[in-house]
Amino acid sequence: MSCEKVDLKSLSLNQVCDFLQELGEPKFRGKQIYQWLHKKQVDSWDEMTNVSKSLREKLKENCTLTSLKKEAVQISKIDGTRKYLFLLEDGNVIESVLMRYKHGNSVCISSQVGCRMGCRFCASTLDGLVRGLRPSEMLDQIYQIGKDIGERISNVVVMGTGEPMDNYDNLLQFIHMLTDENGLNMSQRNLTVSTCGIVPRIRQLADEKLSITLALSLHASNQEKRKELMPVANSFEIHEVIDACKYYFEQTGRRVTFEYSLVGGVNDSEEDAKELSILIKGMNCHINLIPVNPIKERDYVSSNTQVVNAFKNKLEKNGINVTIRREMGRDIDGACGQLRKRYISAERTVD
Ligand code: SAH
Repeated sequence: MSCEKVDLKSLSLNQVCDFLQELGEPKFRGKQIYQWLHKKQVDSWDEMTNVSKSLREKLKENCTLTSLKKEAVQISKIDGTRKYLFLLEDGNVIESVLMRYKHGNSVCISSQVGCRMGCRFCASTLDGLVRGLRPSEMLDQIYQIGKDIGERISNVVVMGTGEPMDNYDNLLQFIHMLTDENGLNMSQRNLTVSTCGIVPRIRQLADEKLSITLALSLHASNQEKRKELMPVANSFEIHEVIDACKYYFEQTGRRVTFEYSLVGGVNDSEEDAKELSILIKGMNCHINLIPVNPIKERDYVSSNTQVVNAFKNKLEKNGINVTIRREMGRDIDGACGQLRKRYISAERTVD
């Protein structure tokens, strides 16, 4: 007999109802409990005050209640951006970021502990992949931050550590639960998933016909340069990736965002901008330019402001929608995954 406990917060409403039926409870209790977990977002069984003590005991016996522990927070004095380090039940740590905009609060969540994609400029991948996050662990990053600031979270971007398409089933379950009316009830339109370009998964996601935004990490205007920066390009050729993005738009009607991290002297020339314009010609898309955030383990440098502006102007002249990513929380900055990395190294030093 398996004695593995069920991670109740990772189950959809229907799955919770079925599970309760298996425990010999009426189905309707499922909705009650689902709402405790995802609407009221309780951190313990005993907070479920309209659930009988005996059922709470049964749940404790059979289930775990995933609840992330806030291990550290850095708050920007400039714009209120907050970087959170959360501790998971198995001792791993993950990073999430809250960004405050005029139009609302946006949370950037991690989808995995570490990452195996190996992008050359990224800190999150330096120690490889530990494991994918469960739906509950993705959701709880948002719940804990919402409770911490006592405000509604209106947007979510899956752009933290990890490759969401490398944790596809959990990602999809997370999306359905985040947008369920018995939970946070977020609109799909307010959710963005960023990928380094795993083509079959992009196509699979397109076929789900959701209204979420796809962000594609492009970072180069041709296959050769992309391969230098992103090992995933060895598996999927740049035109295949672009075709998958076109397919995503056809299936969902959602404009794709291309992320392009500008690396000084590597992908930021006028020629690169020209080639990029040709690559995505005619697409209903948007380009987000990100001056690369240098990490100490690599010697890439950021493009200077003039180069960034010249790159932007060139794209605009070619009729492309382009924005430069506003730098949030510059005073607490460190590239993606650096807070976690520092934390892990500090632990090791203590050992
Ligand atoms: N794995 C996903 C999502 C996580 S990374 C993806 O690749 O899209 C989120 C974005 O930040 C990606 O576009 C990634 O390429 C970019 N990024 C990572 N490290 C960076 C750095 N040091 N400077 C600038 N952008 C970086």
